[in-house]
This record gives sequence, structure tokens and C-alpha cells, in this order.
Amino acid sequence: MAQRLKLRQRLKAMRQGMTLIELLVVIAVILVIVGITYRVLSHTRERAHLATCISNLRQLVLAVHMYEQDWGTVPIELSAPVQTPEGIWGVVAQKLYPTYVKSKSVFLCPSDPTGGRLAPNLPGRSPILVVWRGEKWPNSYTFLVNDFVVKLFGKGNPRLKSQSPLFICAAHRRFLGVILIARYDGSILLHPPLSES
Ligand SMILES: [Zn+2]
Repeated sequence: MAQRLKLRQRLKAMRQGMTLIELLVVIAVILVIVGITYRVLSHTRERAHLATCISNLRQLVLAVHMYEQDWGTVPIELSAPVQTPEGIWGVVAQKLYPTYVKSKSVFLCPSDPTGGRLAPNLPGRSPILVVWRGEKWPNSYTFLVNDFVVKLFGKGNPRLKSQSPLFICAAHRRFLGVILIARYDGSILLHPPLSES
């Protein structure tokens, strides 16, 4: 009788042990699933952000073309933008908004963790917080045609070729290591290229 009781207790202990191991396995499986889901979701989110960024860049290029049709020259950025206590004057953005670019959101990359307030420490050119007539809005994009480029290529109009770079997304380059350049012909240079997964 006592032996049977011992055996039963041993079996019970074993069952509890199994239960604990099972519990740990379940927790591990859940953690793995959560990890995979998180990665898939953040990957999907970045894909969506990239698509929005490319769409913004295309709209900006289109705006430059409309500006050129009206004024006979592309807008030109100052190579030394003016620093103000609130940020740096974004000359080209001022020329494009609101006549050629209707929404301020077009100037903001959704992958920009600073919300368009990148520190102006990129070599040569700065991403710009636009301040204009008391209005402010964020800008993640750097316009690459500045007065220095114009001096190099000609008076008034830099005579851009179809492959000439117009805009670069400073946020993607700086925070995600993805180079996104919009060219004069509206094509987007993307490096590294999109993977199929
Ligand atoms: Zn971007």
C-alpha cells in the first residue's frame, strides 16, 4: 500500500515536471512567434514608408517641372541656407509650396524619426526645417540643385539632364542606410534595391 502511494506520488511529481517543461516550451514558442510577427510587421511598415517616400519624391519632381514651365528655370537652392533660431530657411520648399506642392506632408518622409527636424550636419547640404512667413513645416528632403551647381553648369538654368539628381531623402539615408534619389526624369535611384521578400 505504502509502495503504491509512493509510486503515485512519484508519478504525480513527474507529471508536474512535465507540465513545467511544457509551460516553458509554450512560452518559448510564443516568444518566437511574437519575435517573427514583430519583424514581419516592422518590415511591412518600412515597405509602406518607402512607398510613401517614393511617392513624395515623385510629387516634388513634378512640382519642379511645373515651376520650370512657369519660370523658365528650375528653382535653385542657396548653397548656404540662412540659419534662424527656429531652423534653416528652406528656399526651394518655399518656392514650391503651396503653388506647386499643395500639402506640407509631401515634404515629410514617414521614416524620419525627427519628424523633419534633422540636425543640419550633412556634408554640403542640409535637410531643412522650413520657416516661411511665420509658418513652419518639416522637411526631410534635400534639394540638390544649389547656386554652386548653377554656377558650374550655366547662368540661370543648370541645364539638367534626365538623369540629373534633384532630391535625396535625408532621413532614409541617415537612419536606414537606404539611398533614395529622385532624378529629373522622375526615376528613383534606390540603393540597396528592394528585395523580393
Ligand atoms: Zn524617405
